Amino acid sequence: MRTLTYTSLALLALLMLGAKQPDAAPPSQRLQALAEHCWADAVAQPEAALRALDPAIAESALLGLARTHAELRLCRGYAQEQLQRPVPALQDYEFGVAEGQRLNAATLLADALSLRGEARYLQGLYSQALTDLKRAYEINVTLKRAAQQNYALNAIANLYADANVGDYDRAIDYYRQLLKRHEADGAQQEIATAHYNLGSTLERKQDYAAALEEFRQAEALERRRQQPLEAAYVQRSIGTVLGKLGRTAEALPILEQALKVFEAAGHADRAAQTRLSHAVVLRQLGRLREALAELEQVREYFERERSDRFLEKIHDERALTLSGLGEWPRALRAREQQLALVRRLAEQAKSQQTSRLRVEFDSARKEQENRELNAENLLRSQALASAQAIQHLQLTALALGTVALLALVALGLRQRSHAQRMRTLAMTDELTRLPNRRHLQMLAEAQLAAAQDGGTPLAVLALDIDHFKRINDQHGHDAGDQVLRRVAAAAQAVLRRNDVLGRTGGEEFVALLPGASAEVAMEVAERMRAAVAALQMDEIAPGLRASISLGVSPCQAGERALHPVLKRADAALYRAKAAGRNMVVLA
Ligand code: GH3
Ligand code: MG
Ligand code: MG
Repeated sequence: MRTLTYTSLALLALLMLGAKQPDAAPPSQRLQALAEHCWADAVAQPEAALRALDPAIAESALLGLARTHAELRLCRGYAQEQLQRPVPALQDYEFGVAEGQRLNAATLLADALSLRGEARYLQGLYSQALTDLKRAYEINVTLKRAAQQNYALNAIANLYADANVGDYDRAIDYYRQLLKRHEADGAQQEIATAHYNLGSTLERKQDYAAALEEFRQAEALERRRQQPLEAAYVQRSIGTVLGKLGRTAEALPILEQALKVFEAAGHADRAAQTRLSHAVVLRQLGRLREALAELEQVREYFERERSDRFLEKIHDERALTLSGLGEWPRALRAREQQLALVRRLAEQAKSQQTSRLRVEFDSARKEQENRELNAENLLRSQALASAQAIQHLQLTALALGTVALLALVALGLRQRSHAQRMRTLAMTDELTRLPNRRHLQMLAEAQLAAAQDGGTPLAVLALDIDHFKRINDQHGHDAGDQVLRRVAAAAQAVLRRNDVLGRTGGEEFVALLPGASAEVAMEVAERMRAAVAALQMDEIAPGLRASISLGVSPCQAGERALHPVLKRADAALYRAKAAGRNMVVLA
């Protein structure tokens, strides 16, 4: 969601003008000035920011400047986050929170909590993130920092609106609250943004009529503000929602108008994305030849850009359009191209270097079932588009030379939350909404590191549904899918908050149990086995039952990679299968 705090940008720019020249001042003032200036660098050139910050952090410690030291570390954490290093970033934020409390420094504490809250949110630690953000909000209320209050409220709203949290009603409450505040301030840009965010959330809630209403208001405001690009951006959403409402004839001219604006402004990417939405509507209208021509054009564009994600969607659309035209061989080829891309995307995801996130997955997140793949794809393209929009605005802000601490932080965070949303989608298994193999791998590395550093045990469970092929054969693939969901939910339900369950393959899952000894892990595995065996699934098919086999492997001293632990768990699982299935075996 797009939220930019221009009011705080102007305000802080003024503050910055009053700041002293870094070099001419005594050390304490020089370091304090750096603590204020470094945010712009942390966003724009994080490596350079780190080079400047490290000696300053050491110096501030030597001089006993506790407050400045903590502020510098917050900024360093932020630069680390820009460089995709969440672990050291979180350490600096933790330090900031602790110091804010120890020094009884409310502003420091509020800022550290905001940063930690967002960082936790990006790592999928939703409930902890929420606690931080709410606390940050409350402190900012007592400090009467209105812009920071709004910032926290917006972050909370975005969190609730996140597809993985899916508490849309609550998100809507928060956005409405924000809307009222912005209306009281007469902040037009923020009002437009709030309407837009309300629209996006209602769209996710599949309340398309209400979404349309909000988007229309946002569009009208952007027009009044003479922001044609922003208006076109909203128009794309309007066109999409009209399409979902079946009002395709109305959707068409709106998307065409948006397209014209993007093309005139030289926004090739947004133009291509809009053209794709346009082609979808043309197909829905039965204007298949035109849809196809349009798709071929965007296809060329995204092939040049090597954007597999969009190409995958394009081939999907091509397959549908070509089938409509009765051109079966070409439709089939398009489908094959799409599947090849799906596979390639999965491969890329797997081979991508995984960073060590020292986090525990928040198993309390809600299941998001029955979501159409189309909705997911739309969400993805929207997220991508808005991430780009924000990047653009951020660069504009920098070009204007506005060195504004929190506004830039806000811009950067907003952009990352979009990038993260895309990443979250790529890390979540569509069917079960559990972490996929790649995400599990990341979480496992983090947990293994934490276990080794803290000298605590950790156990890994490998589980596999018994005779699943038979279930598919007897009841059909759809029934099989539903069984997968039920088994995943049952397995998840026996776990504790810090445990993680992920889907690693077709009917294969892995659980990570931090803090669990071999005995505890055996107990958990047995509970899981019993829970699945007890599942009643008559609504899927009368009399349908399922069972799982499990292998349990405690991790050994010094083990920091998942692979060897999992290999032992798999070997134990194999023995459970050989010994008759529906049982637990210790490696
Ligand atoms: P075993 O007890 O030895 O594990 O037997 P099995 O039949 O479960 O094992 P096998 O590995 O031979 O079969 C797994 C089947 O799972 C084959 C595949 O068609 C099916 N499968 C994999 N992914 C999915 C999925 O996403 N949905 C459905 N419905 N079936 C899937
Ligand atoms: Mg299997
Ligand atoms: Mg199986």
